[in-house]
Formats: sequence, structure tokens, C-alpha cells
Amino acid sequence: MRIIVTGGAGFIGSAVVRQLIRQTDARVLNLDALTYAGSLSNIASVSDNPRHHFLKADIRNFDAVARAFAEFQPDGVIHLAAESHVDRSIDGPRAFLETNVTGTCNMLEAARGYYGGLTGAARDGFRFLHVSTDEVFGELGPEGRFTETSSYRPGSPYAATKAAADHLVRAWQRSFGLPCLITSCSNNYGPYQYPEKLIPVLVNNAVAGRSLPIYGTGENVRDWLYVEDHAAALRLVLDRGRVGETYNIGGDSERTNIAIARTVCALLDEMRPDSPACPHERLIRLVTDRPGHDLRYAMDASKITAELGWRPVETFETGLGKTVRWYLENTDWTEAVLNGGEIGRRGLSDRRGMD
Ligand code: NAD
Repeated sequence: MRIIVTGGAGFIGSAVVRQLIRQTDARVLNLDALTYAGSLSNIASVSDNPRHHFLKADIRNFDAVARAFAEFQPDGVIHLAAESHVDRSIDGPRAFLETNVTGTCNMLEAARGYYGGLTGAARDGFRFLHVSTDEVFGELGPEGRFTETSSYRPGSPYAATKAAADHLVRAWQRSFGLPCLITSCSNNYGPYQYPEKLIPVLVNNAVAGRSLPIYGTGENVRDWLYVEDHAAALRLVLDRGRVGETYNIGGDSERTNIAIARTVCALLDEMRPDSPACPHERLIRLVTDRPGHDLRYAMDASKITAELGWRPVETFETGLGKTVRWYLENTDWTEAVLNGGEIGRRGLSDRRGMD
């Protein structure tokens, strides 16, 4: 297999690329613009492998994307490149439209042109997998879970652009016959997540004795999915998913934000018992809520389990233990990515990083 992975220097994309290189014999073209959220250090462990090719390219640039298809001749695409942080989408939505909507349109158009020239087995086997989010469905009340047929009610600019991208993918499938698949997943956590998201912010702030800002009352619920489990699901859907279908991917691990903060603090108390910041829980601060903050997301992942046999390997407890330990052992990585990006210059804001 020859696979283009977009956003392969980001958090989830780098997990996909590392798995493809280590666990399969696929050749990977890792196409990434290296925005503040992308870093070559995320893929350093596979960068010398001759089956991994990195291309610094921007999906907003159609010509660059079309050239990548023509030169690499992929059998499949896993499209993850996106602006991904909800708070940033509230501060500045335009970049989200440009990358998540126009960029996805460029990917689809380039794939359509390339697919049009394929014949025989290459044409039969080609797949375009678009990676979406549970946030397109809006918020849930205390009961129920999102299924693949839940209606779209995106609440943030980020979610609205991801929803728009999903609609484009379905339209390219229906109107042009491009063999597409969509996955929608819940909140990911794990190593290499850019330190603006909840769990790395909690670990990094707590070890430094800084406050742990939690939006509103802390009762917002997310369904947490370990990133390596997600990457395995994406590979499976690309290999065996039915064309035209959507698959929900979730960790079956609903937790409130305040519960996450307390659990991270308890783990840090155990792992760093001599820290002057112990007990870390006293650092938790409730801060003014995010505008339009969705109360609860939860995924019904029974379709991918029934059809493809996928289920998460990590429980939230095992995955979180690994994750906290990884951030403690990789402070040089955190320093490096923060110093390369705008957060490094600005300093971690107190109101960011909730989910
Ligand atoms: P991330 O922000 O860590 O990484 C995004 C990557 O895309 C970065 O490497 C960045 O450099 C690259 N990128 C951004 N704009 C680009 C552009 N214009 N051209 C080329 N590359 C560009 O994001 P992530 O958390 O790894 O998320 C990956 C995908 O999964 C996204 O599509 C996101 O919407 C989706 N998703 C993420 C989560 C989550 O919890 N992290 C949950 C659901 C869905």
C-alpha cells in the first residue's frame, strides 16, 4: 500500500504514521504544512525509514496537493490535516475555514482528478478516508450517544468547519463516485498532543505548580479515546471499511473535565510524591466558561465493533497512566514544540486548554 497521510506531523496523524511504518509494510507520504501544531519531532522515530517520505505542503494550495497525488501515486488517503483547537476557532475562525473546508475541497478535487486516471485493480482499491469529529453533532443531554445517523448541529466554528468538510466528502462520493469513508471520533489523548489541550496542559501546569484552569463548573463530559487505539481504527477502516459509510470511534470512557483534572492530580501525587506542588488538586481553578461550550459528547461505536471487530485496547485508567508518565519523561519534547510555536512566545494562557 502507498498511503498519503495529511497532518501526519500532528498528534493523531503522527500516531497513524508511526503505526503504518512500524506495523505494516506500507509506504507513507506524510503531507503536512508544519503549522504551530505540527512537529517533525513527532515522527523522529520513523523519519529515517525509507518507507516514510515527508512533504512539507499546505492543503490550501491545490497545485501542491495535486502534484503530491501525481508523483506519489497513492492507493489510499487518510486525511487528518486540520486546524483543530476549538478555542482558537473562537478567537479566529477564518484559518479554520481555509484549512478545514477549502483544504478538504482541494484534497477531494486532487483525489478526484487522480482517481479519474486509475484503471483496474488500482481504481477498485483506491480509498479516501476523511477523519472527522463527534463535535459535528453538537451537544448531548445527560442520556444517549451519537450514532452515525445523528443529525448535524455543530456549535463552534471548529465543529462547523468539520461538518462542512464532512458534507463535501459525502457530496464528492455521491456526485463523482469518489470512494470515500468518514470516521467521527471522540476526544483523543496520549503522547505527542500539542500542549494546549486539556491533559498535557494539566500535567505541564501541575508539575510547574501553576494553576489548572477548568471551564465553568467542570461538568462538561467528553468520551476519551487513546490515540493509538484511534490510529488502529483508522487503519482498519481504510483497509476494510465499506465505501460510502461513516464509522463512529469512541473510547467508551465518559469523564467530566473536573474528574479528569482530579485523576491527573492523583496520578501526579503518586508519580511525584516529593513535588512541592503536592497535593496537586489544590491547583485546580474554575474559570469563566468557553462561549457555546457543549455539555456532553458520547459516541456509540457499536458499528465499527460489529462490522470490523475494532474495540479500544486501553481503558481510560491504563491510557491515562501511560500518558501522564510520557509527559513527565518528555519535558524536552514539550519545551521544543512550545518554543517553536506561538504559545511559546506568549506563555500559556490561563483560560486555554480545556478539551
Ligand atoms: P493537530 O492540531 O495535532 O494536528 C494537525 C496537523 O495538521 C498538524 O501537523 C498541522 O501542521 C497540520 N496542518 C494544519 N493545517 C494544515 C494545512 N493547511 N496543510 C497541511 N497541514 C496542515 O490535530 P489532531 O488532534 O492530530 O487532529 C487530527 C484530525 O483529527 C483533525 O482533522 C481533527 O479535526 C480530528 N479530530 C481530532 C480529535 C482530537 O481529540 N484531537 C478528535 C476528533 C477529531
